[in-house]
Amino acid sequence: MSMAIALPLAGQVALVTGASRGIGAAIARELAGAGATLVVNYASSPEAAEAMVNEIQAAGGKAWAHRANVADEQQVEAMVKAVLEREGRLDVLVNNAGITRDGLLMRMKTADWQSVIDLNLTGVFLCTRAVSRSMLKARSGRIINITSVVALFGNPGQANYSAAKAGVIGLTRSTAAEFASRGITVNAVAPGFIDSDMTKDLDKEPILKAIPLGRMGQSAEVAGAVRFLAADPAAAYITGQVLQVDGGMVMR
Ligand code: NAP
Repeated sequence: MSMAIALPLAGQVALVTGASRGIGAAIARELAGAGATLVVNYASSPEAAEAMVNEIQAAGGKAWAHRANVADEQQVEAMVKAVLEREGRLDVLVNNAGITRDGLLMRMKTADWQSVIDLNLTGVFLCTRAVSRSMLKARSGRIINITSVVALFGNPGQANYSAAKAGVIGLTRSTAAEFASRGITVNAVAPGFIDSDMTKDLDKEPILKAIPLGRMGQSAEVAGAVRFLAADPAAAYITGQVLQVDGGMVMR
């Protein structure tokens, strides 16, 4: 019996939103390591995005950066157009960009509610719609949305964020149902508490008590789940699912 050794995403193009830092950077690194050409999206950290591109290129991979605010319809459309013009294809979309604007609901400013919904939920819709035409035409594609375990339980101080992330789960399932007949899978990854800029100022003691594995997660551990969902044929028969990467925090 012969065995062919090939990188699972060789020849494919992956767009990762918010790939300049944190979990997105780890996902970019992982998918590039699997052979994909990486489009590193960022909004306000050009140096970090370029450093990511340089790191991938230095390791022998292919990558370039594109600035776009994923909450802005025109910028999202222009980004996807740029990818298709330059690469001629777009195989994997990872909707990772996200922010928090935490506060108790009673005192939450409408602007803080709206900016989290605009980026964390509407941004996923805009990017998904923008890639849909080329993926539907190609009759293949992988869309992976980064949600959060706080979409699954009530986290005080995060009404805006939990609502957006729960919305992403609904959006994932509806899109999965719409795109399934065209060979496109749509899944979500729900990280628990991961070491990144987003969590660096949180009080870790109560959080660690709630995690059966007894530690924060690492960005690379989320990236591993994304790589799996992007890989063919490993995850070809999985769609509309939420894969938790949370150290056992929420067991259902
Ligand atoms: P992070 O370290 O704060 O990084 C956020 C990333 O999003 C940065 O690359 C940032 O790029 C980008 N971004 C912010 N606003 C953007 C915009 N308008 N358009 C495009 N990109 C934008 O956050 P993280 O912890 O890696 O989180 C990544 C994802 O995982 C988010 O969706 C988050 O909700 C989710 N998540 C995180 C955790 C956790 O514990 N850390 C847990 C569950 C889920 P610039 O710097 O260039 O603006």
